[in-house]
Amino acid sequence: MTRLLWTACVTAGVLVSTTGTGAWGMDVHRWITERAIDGLPEPIKPFFVAERAFISEHSVDPDLWRTVDLRGERGDEPPNHFLDMDFEEGSKTPFLNIPREYDAYVGKYGVGPANRYGRLPWRAEEIYTRLVGAFKDMGQPNAPFAADNARYFVAVLAHYIEDAHQPFHAVISYDGQATNQRGIHSRFETDLVLRNQKTLKLEPVKITAIPAFRDYMFQTLLDSQALVDGVLAADRKAIEGREFYDAAYFDVFLTGVKPALERRLSEAASGLASAVFSAWVEAGRPVLPAGGVRAPARIRR
Ligand SMILES: [Zn+2]
Repeated sequence: MTRLLWTACVTAGVLVSTTGTGAWGMDVHRWITERAIDGLPEPIKPFFVAERAFISEHSVDPDLWRTVDLRGERGDEPPNHFLDMDFEEGSKTPFLNIPREYDAYVGKYGVGPANRYGRLPWRAEEIYTRLVGAFKDMGQPNAPFAADNARYFVAVLAHYIEDAHQPFHAVISYDGQATNQRGIHSRFETDLVLRNQKTLKLEPVKITAIPAFRDYMFQTLLDSQALVDGVLAADRKAIEGREFYDAAYFDVFLTGVKPALERRLSEAASGLASAVFSAWVEAGRPVLPAGGVRAPARIRR
């Protein structure tokens, strides 16, 4: 979800959008999350397939926390959804100079700027760590809610990993402000995806070990940032000579960004599945109840 809801005024001669911007629209979050679950390997797949509807639905919760203004230890929720890799004045791509330790990040730039430019990698790592903890607790007699917690942490982790794959969650001009292309955030992540969902070709989910989760998040954001110029160029081409963001606009826009869009959606699903698998391995490969959280208890004889 972007930092503000934006609805353009209906002005003659100006391209008009009436959609609010959101982090991969909620339906897109659910779609990526479900693909990731379907692509999980044995033996963890049955547990998550049984919890698929729950996890998919709750993968949008972090956006709702923004709406109700929930706060965590590090501050309010919105900065948890992005990190503007290009925020530092004078720095050049690939933006490797942002400290990867949170305290060093805050120490270098100050609390105010740190909150303004985002906390996504650290927030995602916090949830990943809690997921590892919930996996470790599973089967322990003193942790009756471990399975409930594991499925919820997967839902929340899904949200943050998916946000990191959206190019505009990695740049300061997150809605095309700098180039006068306002509304690009939701045109790309919501309108374009939902219009073409049936024809987009996503790669099968691939499981890759993630040995250092925070570094994975940083790399994902660096990759996202690198895609922004291409998306903006495709948008400019699609706008040319047009007055509305109509079907013809979206056709031209799609032609320009289809490979990047399909790749990012695919990588988001693979990234989430890989993170869940890696957390489970890190926790010592606990046995997960194949029937899900509410699986009927076995009768002991
Ligand atoms: Zn978000």
